[in-house]
Formats: sequence, structure tokens, C-alpha cells
Amino acid sequence: MVVKLDDLARRDELGSTARAPRWAVAYKFPPEERTTTLLDIGVSIGRTGRATPFAVLAPVFVGGSTVAMATLHNADQVAAKDVRVGDTVIVRKAGDVIPEVVGPVLADRDPNSTAWVFPADCPTCGRPLVQPAGEVEHRCANERCPARVAGAIEHFASRSAMDIEGLGEQRVQLFSQLGMVSDVADIYRLDYDRLRQMEGFGELSVANLATAIEQSKQRRLANVLVGLNIRHVGGTVAEVLADHFGTLDALAAATLDDLAAVEGIGPVIATSVAEFLAAPVNVAVIDKLRAAGVNLTQPAVGAGAGAGGEGSVVQPGALDGLSVVVTGTLTSFGRTEATAAIKAAGGASPGSVSAKTSAVVAGDSPGASKIAKADKLGVPVIDEEAFVRLLSGTPLQQILEDR
Ligand code: ZN
Repeated sequence: MVVKLDDLARRDELGSTARAPRWAVAYKFPPEERTTTLLDIGVSIGRTGRATPFAVLAPVFVGGSTVAMATLHNADQVAAKDVRVGDTVIVRKAGDVIPEVVGPVLADRDPNSTAWVFPADCPTCGRPLVQPAGEVEHRCANERCPARVAGAIEHFASRSAMDIEGLGEQRVQLFSQLGMVSDVADIYRLDYDRLRQMEGFGELSVANLATAIEQSKQRRLANVLVGLNIRHVGGTVAEVLADHFGTLDALAAATLDDLAAVEGIGPVIATSVAEFLAAPVNVAVIDKLRAAGVNLTQPAVGAGAGAGGEGSVVQPGALDGLSVVVTGTLTSFGRTEATAAIKAAGGASPGSVSAKTSAVVAGDSPGASKIAKADKLGVPVIDEEAFVRLLSGTPLQQILEDR
């Protein structure tokens, strides 16, 4: 049930928190809870080596779907909940989405059961798991651990990194198990002939995968940096480093002091980046990426990949306080470049059109719903040429008057 205030003036007065309006309140039924048997507690290894315990459950229908697994987060959580293999446990969906083990039904516990102990060794590679002093998480420190390698390749292909469509978890696991990929650069050496012989890979799906992989070679340095899985380097840090150094070579040549001198880069990140780029195993992967033709440079902001963008200049502050939505394909900006240029000019670039949108930039084949919404709300729709002028400092008002 949602209760809303129906007085518009009072709504304005109440405003909203960072997350939700203060003039509407939702009441939900408590999540449905079911009991089932905890069959086992397993441990999965992520791309950073982090070991995460998870519950293997006798399948139970709860909150609209059948649940057979649930994360247990870490050793402390398992201990705090005191769940033991063989227990009857209460299961629900946190936020109605993520399966969660609430706790055991102690009355049903086998008196001979024993508390769960974190395994000493990595379930994938068998090397001892380590728990750094003061940290709650256990990790597999083996950089060649197959679970870590597969996780890292999956991350490289993910949307936040190289955005390779059709190369998700299942395929990466499969290729990894078959020995077809053992580092991220092996993606560019996939044996497509072999793939075509494999079950589930038709001519078309192989062609699509090959195209997606080929296209990913043109991503910007920031995407590559995210994809390389360097500790402490997420999207924002990668953008900062890529914009500052411009090329991977320049970044690799930077000293620890050079790195730490960059605004937004602290000593922890600087050390992590320097160590990563100095490690021979990573140097070898980067050489393979280069040999495969993967772009290792960052285009100047606003320069874009195509001809039209060359020489266009982003004026910092040109979009201060403005919110610009891009739809359709632009000739001189990729989608990410356009967003980066808007942000570099001080503007915001939300994904959807609202009454707060200052202008909508329509490229080729723009989204019909975005254009319709802009029309309805009276938000001006401008073309790419006007967008470039806007970025370079021409006021929006001026551009609209010139039309
Ligand atoms: Zn391992």
C-alpha cells in the first residue's frame, strides 16, 4: 500500500531525501518466510580471490520462485547466525529479491551437530586460503586460481569494462574449463573454428560473438583499466588515470610519486597500480592485448572516435547546472564519450528525460519515447552540431535562438 499526500504545495514543502520523496510512504507485507534443510555450506572464489560462503538448500518455493542457494557473506555472518549443515533453516528474500538465510530453527537441531568451520583450502585450486590480519574475509591468494581467472575474464568482458555482448558468466566458465582462455587477452585469440563445432554455438552466435569481441578493441583506456581488475581501480579511478596519462605506456612509466600526485589518487591506489603494472605476469597480458590490436589510449575528452569530433573542445563549466540527455547514435561521440564530455563540461547526463532535463541531443535513430517525452515536457531537442557548440561554451539559449 502506498500512501501519498494529495496537496501539491505541501509536497513541495516536504521535498525529498536523497533516496525518496517525503510525501509518499510505502507499506509492504513482511517477506514470506519458509523453512528448509541446509544441505551444505560451500565457498565460492571471486575474481579478487575473496572466498564467500554460501548455503546449499533443499529447494524451497519462497517469495515467488524456487530457492536452492543463498549467500552467507562471510565467516562472521555464518558464526553470528550459527547455521550448521543439517539444520532446518528459515529462508526469505531480502528486499524481495535476494535469497537470505535468516537463521536456524534451534528446536529442530540435531544435538550432535557441530559448528561450521571455514575450509582451510581453496575449493577450486586447493591452495591454503588466507585471512589477512584484521580482515573478516578469507581469500585465495593464488593469482592463477582457475576460479579467480574465470572471474577476472568475466569482469573484463562485463558492461562496466570492455562490454563484450555474449560473453557472460556461463560462456567464460565453459571456455575457461576447456582451457580456451587463461587470461583476459586470450579472449582475442579464441578459436572460432573450434567454437563452431561446439554444442550450443551456431554459425550466427559465433559470428555475433566475434563481432562483439572485435568491437571491444576500440574501447577507451579507462575501460581497459577497469577490465584489468587492478585492486582499488573502479570506474572513477580508471577515468582519472586514463584522462591524466592518456596512454597505458605513460601510465606504466609513471613512478609512485607521479601517480600519487594525480588529484583523486591516494597512496593506496598509487601503490596498487604501480605494483600491478610492474608485475611480469600483467606486463605479459598487456603485451598480448597490444598485439591483438586492443586500443590502449584514451581519447581527449570530447574528441570522440570519428572524424567530426576531432578538434572539438569541451569548455569546463559550459554545462554547469544543465542536464543533457543523449539519444540515438552520434557520429563523433560514442555513448560513453558523450556522457564523459557532458560531465567534463560540468553537466549531468541522466538516462531518462524529465521536466528537469535542459536539452535532449538526438543522434541517428533516436529513441522515440525520449523524443516524445521531451516534446510533451517542452524540453528542447538539439542535433549533434548544436551539442558540440554547447560543449564548447555557446549558451543553450543562444543555440535555441539560432535555430
Ligand atoms: Zn584458489
